[in-house]
Amino acid sequence: MGCPAAPCCGAFGARGVERQAGGAQRDDEVAPVSEPKTVIRHVTWHLRPDQEPDAEPSTFAFMCVVCGENSRASEGWEEPQAWVLGHCGRNPSHLTYREVLTRPWKTWMTP
Ligand SMILES: [Zn+2]
Repeated sequence: MGCPAAPCCGAFGARGVERQAGGAQRDDEVAPVSEPKTVIRHVTWHLRPDQEPDAEPSTFAFMCVVCGENSRASEGWEEPQAWVLGHCGRNPSHLTYREVLTRPWKTWMTP
């Protein structure tokens, strides 16, 4: 199901049928988890990064994989990178870090 707002970043739609865990299903079969008692209307939900002017800002941070300590989240790279260099300077055996990106996403529905 394509995104009506395309081109966008990985947007997709989904209707209310989910795969049942376990059982003797073939891999290409999809079974409903439960049947609705009353259907008011079917809608398709979409998901994409929120790029509207009022969206939360994207932020960057680093986490030390050795001890789990984090830099502060920042809208720029300078502060998290400075934190990494300071952290490994204080802890010379802490040499592995994880980049943490936080990006706002938005959902919307269509009939
Ligand atoms: Zn550390």
